[in-house]
Amino acid sequence: MSHPVPTSSAAVLERPAAGAGAAETQTAARVTEQPQPQARAANGADYDVAVIGSGPGGYVSAIRAAQLGLKVAIVEKGHMGGTCLNVGCIPTKAMLSSVEALATARRGKDFGFTAGDVQPDYSAMTKRRDKIVEQLRGGVGMLMRKNQIEVVNGAAKFKSAHELEISANGGAARRLTAANVIIATGSVVSKPPIPGADLEGVVNSDQLLALPKVPKSMAVIGAGAVGLEWGDIFHELGTKITVIEMVNRILPPADAEVAQELARSFQKKGFDLLTGVGVKGIEKKNGMLSVRYGKEGGPEQTVEAEVVLIATGRWPFTDGLGLENAGIQLERRSIPVNEQMQTRVKGVYAIGDVTPGPLLAHVASKGGEVAAEAIAGHTAKMDYHVIPSCVYTSPEVAWVGLTQEEATERHGEVKVGKFPFRVMGRAIASGFREGFMKVIAEPKYGEILGVHMIGAHVTDLIAEATLAMAMEATVEEIFHTIHAHPTLPEIFQEATLDAWERAIHKG
Ligand SMILES: Cc1cc2nc3c(=O)[nH]c(=O)nc-3n(C[C@H](O)[C@H](O)[C@H](O)COP(=O)(O)OP(=O)(O)OC[C@H]3O[C@@H](n4cnc5c(N)ncnc54)[C@H](O)[C@@H]3O)c2cc1C
Repeated sequence: MSHPVPTSSAAVLERPAAGAGAAETQTAARVTEQPQPQARAANGADYDVAVIGSGPGGYVSAIRAAQLGLKVAIVEKGHMGGTCLNVGCIPTKAMLSSVEALATARRGKDFGFTAGDVQPDYSAMTKRRDKIVEQLRGGVGMLMRKNQIEVVNGAAKFKSAHELEISANGGAARRLTAANVIIATGSVVSKPPIPGADLEGVVNSDQLLALPKVPKSMAVIGAGAVGLEWGDIFHELGTKITVIEMVNRILPPADAEVAQELARSFQKKGFDLLTGVGVKGIEKKNGMLSVRYGKEGGPEQTVEAEVVLIATGRWPFTDGLGLENAGIQLERRSIPVNEQMQTRVKGVYAIGDVTPGPLLAHVASKGGEVAAEAIAGHTAKMDYHVIPSCVYTSPEVAWVGLTQEEATERHGEVKVGKFPFRVMGRAIASGFREGFMKVIAEPKYGEILGVHMIGAHVTDLIAEATLAMAMEATVEEIFHTIHAHPTLPEIFQEATLDAWERAIHKG
């Protein structure tokens, strides 16, 4: 029996792929049936869709296109899963879970047990990390097979807008044609012009994965999510961490109050946070790396470290793609697209980190779904308004929507509610006293404009706030929703109530 497959955009009517013959007309109340992939692509091309890159953007777009009955190929020059799976989201979270378990074991006394002399085994942790990555890579391969998507190994280059040349490592080049191409080539680590950035011991987040042992000290340049997560991992493993950030606070895109709380927590743990200063250069001195930093035009200071991590962001990646052959021009390194993720060239789409939106795996995946649905003739559109951001440090940070500063700037007067972890039953019972949640709402109708969280498990807890904002829920609707007790989501409800000065458990 076939099951209805909901589309990602509500109330979208489905129709067969363009040119697929027979029933071209949209039929009201018809939902997609489990598809039968086409033996032949439309328009005489080899494929209906060729996807370049198998990161969370590329592989999701390939699956969605296959679900919609299109004949799909995916081209990948490296490992399946892209940055996210191989060097990004997954390896960092695997390591963070290891150090979180380590931290809990070290706090055994707080929970009423002694775990003896708990010591990290870095080599075992990295083995666990690599095994997880390998397992998930296999999972992506399995999904490709299940959806009858052809995987082509090699680097793709446009010969024209609908023809790709794929050269595999050392193998003969192969050509394929596709009625539609989705560019999902992602991003690579940025290379800021810091003198000494090529010295031994200066690494980026990809190279950090190959670090053979835990260094005694590490200077992290850049206080964004990547720098802070890796800093937190190595701090727990015993490394002395110094963070150097050009902006005058850590985690610049977060709500100021949340970033301040995180800074306080990190300083309490022993991090050195140097903000509002730029790095001028790195030198090797007596076997150590010496990082020179200072304010613009001000005196220079130095910090010594065994390893320097450059975590200053990522750039869209289009090297060797032959975009000029497809007639595509870059704007500030990325590929401009419309709300259906289509480039200015008909039949060529771009998604994920290679486009101007936020560089996040879930944004890439959503863009992938939108592009596949647009190709299949749906009216799906990319909406960047409600996108959760998560930082998996300890404490975790998560937010969705506007910061208090942005909300005030756009809406004038806003209502702000805040509730701490330290007074909630489940938080106390679980030993998570640090952090708070903050809800920002528009005062007339109570529409939620932004939610900001810092504390344990907030990267999971942000889902409720995200759904509430996506559904345009008002504070009233959150007030009336019964939240299970004792749970951490009660803090979100209390923070919402607090915006109307009605929090129940506020002392
Ligand atoms: C350390 C780190 C931690 C991160 N943590 C998170 C997180 O917790 N949450 C989150 O949302 N995001 C996180 N990110 C960001 C996330 O990894 C990216 O936003 C996401 O991977 C982008 O997906 P994508 O599909 O656009 O591209 P990518 O994942 O970069 O995949 C692009 C793929 O295209 C392939 N490719 C490129 N050119 C060609 C070509 N010519 N031919 C064939 N193949 C090609 C590449 O080999 C690669 O596999 C993290 C990133 C890093 C570096």
